[in-house]
Amino acid sequence: MITTAKMDSLEYRLRRSDRRSVGISIERDGTVVVTAPHQAELVDIEKFVSEKKIWIYQKLHQKKSLNREKPKREFVNGQGFLYLGKSYRLKIVDDVEVKSGSSQKAAPLRLWHGYFELAESKKADARNHFVSWYRKQIRKQLKERIPRYDKRIGVTVKSIRILDLGHRWASCGRNGNISFNWRSVMAPAWVFDYILVHELIHLIERTHTARFWRVVARVMPDYEEHARWLNENGADLDL
Ligand SMILES: [Zn+2]
Repeated sequence: MITTAKMDSLEYRLRRSDRRSVGISIERDGTVVVTAPHQAELVDIEKFVSEKKIWIYQKLHQKKSLNREKPKREFVNGQGFLYLGKSYRLKIVDDVEVKSGSSQKAAPLRLWHGYFELAESKKADARNHFVSWYRKQIRKQLKERIPRYDKRIGVTVKSIRILDLGHRWASCGRNGNISFNWRSVMAPAWVFDYILVHELIHLIERTHTARFWRVVARVMPDYEEHARWLNENGADLDL
């Protein structure tokens, strides 16, 4: 027997079978299939699915990223590039112009008066300049944002690395080390905060246990909305 069930915005197919425990799989087309024993109560199945929700979102996000074509941004005038959820248009400017009007020292790329400005001579290497610009912003953002959460969670961040983590937004190592995907800062601020909070909590609880999600919910009561946003839009956060 197969029925379709819905939990919040998550739709899944419920298949009853002779198996003894509840299982979740995600089909090639992104359909979530929950297989449960005939006698399992719906509330128990729902509880199980609820606990696995973030895992499901992550898997769906991976599938989406793999299936969908990359956004393919071109580094030309007028093309939009994301930073903290907003899109800013690119302007290719004279090298001289990048240096003027700014107190900061000449950078090949900057966000200036609502535009990304890229020096003409740096065009060929535009992608790298964007990546290093994003890396710098993440460090800046984290410096500001970590103090909002670390004491509440009871953790100390020892070091931060900004890497290309592919489909993952961040990861957590041992001894207070966290790594961020350089793409993460393209997400809206509140989603970026969710990625941060998620990793900070991993410093005390390494896996996605019920306790892990309880702490997440305490620190960020609307975290599910953010996780969902990542699932739906994560594939667009790229160059
Ligand atoms: Zn996690």
